[in-house]
Amino acid sequence: MSERDYTEETKEMQKSEAEDKDDDEYEKICMICRRPESVTGPMMNLPNNIYVCKDCMQKSFDAMTNGDIDYSRLMNIPGVQFLNIGDMEQQIPKKQKIKKKKPKEEKAPLVDIHNLPAPHKIKASLDEYVVGQEHAKKAMSVAVYNHYKRVATGTLDDIEIEKSNMLMIGPTGSGKTYLVKTLARLLDVPLAITDATSLTEAGYIGDDIESVVSKLLAAADNDVEKAEQGIIFIDEIDKIAKKRNTSQRDVSGESVQQGMLKLLEGSDVEVPVGANSKNAMVPLTTVNTRNILFICGGAFPDLENIIKERLTKQSAIGFGADLKDKYDKDKTLLSKVETEDLRKFGMIPEFLGRLPIVFTLQGLSEEMLIQILKEPKNAILKQYQKLLAIDEVKLEFTEGALSAIAKKAMKKDTGARALRAIIEEFMLDIMYEIPKDDSIGQVTITEEYIENTGGPIITLRGQEVPAIEDRA
Ligand code: ADP
Repeated sequence: MSERDYTEETKEMQKSEAEDKDDDEYEKICMICRRPESVTGPMMNLPNNIYVCKDCMQKSFDAMTNGDIDYSRLMNIPGVQFLNIGDMEQQIPKKQKIKKKKPKEEKAPLVDIHNLPAPHKIKASLDEYVVGQEHAKKAMSVAVYNHYKRVATGTLDDIEIEKSNMLMIGPTGSGKTYLVKTLARLLDVPLAITDATSLTEAGYIGDDIESVVSKLLAAADNDVEKAEQGIIFIDEIDKIAKKRNTSQRDVSGESVQQGMLKLLEGSDVEVPVGANSKNAMVPLTTVNTRNILFICGGAFPDLENIIKERLTKQSAIGFGADLKDKYDKDKTLLSKVETEDLRKFGMIPEFLGRLPIVFTLQGLSEEMLIQILKEPKNAILKQYQKLLAIDEVKLEFTEGALSAIAKKAMKKDTGARALRAIIEEFMLDIMYEIPKDDSIGQVTITEEYIENTGGPIITLRGQEVPAIEDRA
């Protein structure tokens, strides 16, 4: 054997060894009953990485010895195919394997009570990414801190700390999803994001409510322990409000709320591994949702009117009666929300009872949009500056340009979401043209360029930078 052949063979062997090692982290699953090894006990190992549990093995032997099946007859029937065990192995994608529970002694707690960041630290980290929304950040930091304290202490004594599931109310594009994403990243816990509109009661077309847990399990690399301490964010929760004045069966609203009660509170759910629905080919595992933090978010359109109605009614009696339009221009109206208003909106009391922490996010103002453009750690402007810096070109925006972008975004009424689209439109030409010309040293985006009445200022390398007072 030549030396080259030899090294390739060793490489091949090392590779397969590594794969075997990788496999060690996953539970074996019985090919017949689909139960994992943690449930069935040790399994028989057949060639081609096929495992069969003792129960199923026994059943097969019993069937054979009882003479229920006459194999010799089977052989002669035309059209009878024998299973190719190798094919079956290929049908079970690796993603569907469940990670083994680690042995107790080497288990380091995912959340260590002594290393939990204090609320002010959580908020400070959120501040680096999320502009404004002070109240929401504060409420969230405290709730998360308490939640993980609860997880870390477990049920050591009789005083059980209540679960701090949250309900976030705020207009679209105000940073709800962004807050949750940032939080999960900071805490380094798995996160699953779902849309409430896609959820239906089990048995109807759409995703089962339990599929959210399945998603979380996937986000945790099929590690059940990790998933059990993760965060589930359910967006557009206002879309599953009870429909008012309807006599039809409501499969996507009230019953979904009903179906979610158990999950929110904490229960054992059987979830398919690596798939969204339960079927014969998919192994199942049990996830307990007791320590999973649920955060629901929604824009709740019209909620302001409900709050206004309540407040006006309250103050319309007696001498101190307020003017009817007192709350019409109140920007903080949403933050005066109470459970009663949400109930009127169509959320059922049991559901609201399981989301004890309710807070609101403000709609973004023009100044906030400008801040979002330039201040967060991964602000859009910083991203473009970094891209151009690779070409050794400096990118600047005048204050006028920034406020013109913010004004345009305000008109679209989709919060900060519009910013990226607007900037991308203007930056396309710049990103296309600049790399063509090596002599360009700096580009300054002006208000005129954003408003289509002029162009950006291009400065060549070595040239004096023009004095623009209001450069960002
Ligand atoms: P929604 O409230 O509809 O869930 P998102 O959180 O998805 O809105 O916001 C869309 C995008 O806008 C985010 O990805 C983020 O980049 C940006 N954004 C929104 N609000 C803020 C904010 N307060 N601070 C920084 N960025 C924000």
